[in-house]
Amino acid sequence: MTEFKLNLNHFSADDQQLIKKAYEFAANAHRGQKRKSGDPYIAHPLAVAETVAAWHQDAAAVAAALLHDVVEDTGVALELLESEFGAEVAELVDAVTKLGKIKQAEHTDEPTQIQQASSENIRKLLLAMSKDLRVIVIKLADRLHNLKTLTFLPAAKRRRIAQESLEIFAPLADRLGMGQLKAEMEDLAFRYAYPEKYAEVKKLMAHYITETNQYIIRLKRFIAEELTKAGVKPLNIEGRQKHLYSVYKKLGKAEGNLEKIYDLIAIRVLVPKEPDCYQALGVLHQHFKPLIYRIKDYIAVPKPNGYRSLHTTVFALDGRITEIQIRTPQMHEEAERGLAAHFYYDAQKASKAYRKGQAATLPAKLQWVNKLSQLQTAAKPEELLEELKIDLFGDRIFVFSPKGDLFDLPVGSTPVDFAFEVHSDIGWRTQGAKVNGKIVPLDHKLENRDVVDILTRKEPRPNQDWLAFVKTADAKNRIRSWLRSHGQLE
Ligand code: MN
Repeated sequence: MTEFKLNLNHFSADDQQLIKKAYEFAANAHRGQKRKSGDPYIAHPLAVAETVAAWHQDAAAVAAALLHDVVEDTGVALELLESEFGAEVAELVDAVTKLGKIKQAEHTDEPTQIQQASSENIRKLLLAMSKDLRVIVIKLADRLHNLKTLTFLPAAKRRRIAQESLEIFAPLADRLGMGQLKAEMEDLAFRYAYPEKYAEVKKLMAHYITETNQYIIRLKRFIAEELTKAGVKPLNIEGRQKHLYSVYKKLGKAEGNLEKIYDLIAIRVLVPKEPDCYQALGVLHQHFKPLIYRIKDYIAVPKPNGYRSLHTTVFALDGRITEIQIRTPQMHEEAERGLAAHFYYDAQKASKAYRKGQAATLPAKLQWVNKLSQLQTAAKPEELLEELKIDLFGDRIFVFSPKGDLFDLPVGSTPVDFAFEVHSDIGWRTQGAKVNGKIVPLDHKLENRDVVDILTRKEPRPNQDWLAFVKTADAKNRIRSWLRSHGQLE
């Protein structure tokens, strides 16, 4: 039997007993079953439970993680789980099992069908979350381990799971503020969804990191010294490299030029308290001139998912452009672990209602989670669901350039939106467009996975009529600004 190696020290004796019992039960139920990797099956639920415990979830969630596949894969009746572990654990397992049966468009490459399936899956996820947030936490941990062991599955299935993770689960982790999980999932999935691009970006980054290593060491030392001199105590300074999938997405906008991405390696400075963040920023700006449009105060104005930090991009040592992020340990913890961090910090008030996201005690920045709970009682749940879907996933589509670079755009975007997303100069010079090799009108609505090729003229000549059909604010603004500066718009 696979060894039970969960650290349960922070649980009460009763809770420890519940978890151990769940482990014995699951190990028995899965006895004789193997994962595709050849491991005994129990290794999977155990790994999921470890993650759930590491995210500081409660004993019921850890027990449910251990049991999450027994109903689906071993035919254990839900009633048995209920009599053995109580209604709370049984309900969690039931909800996770139902999510497991999410619709898969595996026998088709038809974009609309894939999108329908993914849209339906998002609905299911949101509904499940609205009942109990722990369901999605277990599901995310399940998906993470499946991604880690993806290499043992057949190629087609691998790619489908990888793509679904990029389109649904990673964005969900992001909206829950779980930055570390989002990055980990994206890089695991990236490798299987776009293997050639992955290899390319990996090589580029490895090269870049070797080249930059000495510089980062010098810069960290310089920052530590200057902050200390100014009376700000640096708790930790580290060079954080941008994760590969995020580099890949940015490379598209940077026209494949790594040098144009300023935060490939960012310096992350941890200081004790919020006022120290601003003081540290001042000290750094005394030494390094900032790029004016790249100072971001996410402490005063946090991102919608609650992310807080100061960002600045400066001409640092030798005039090298470098991004520096300044935050407190608590901001850091929240940025990496999001929702899970709140469970941790507020362990004392983790009442049942709180855990389910139904209490006002949930931090204001995760208010959308509270909105979820209204789904259960809303007069028009369909409307609320649509609203949430747009909030959370913004109904985006993924399209490609002919070179295979990936861009995400809002649903309803046109080739003109795409052109401006690639580069404003391309946008202004757009003359025509090909989608999947065929000429289309410029107001053509793009679909998921389209390959878009923009035909440009030599001189910029954006058309006022485009304003009637472009979808992104960015395209609209750039068209207007050009027309205005050329006296063609009041
Ligand atoms: Mn599983």
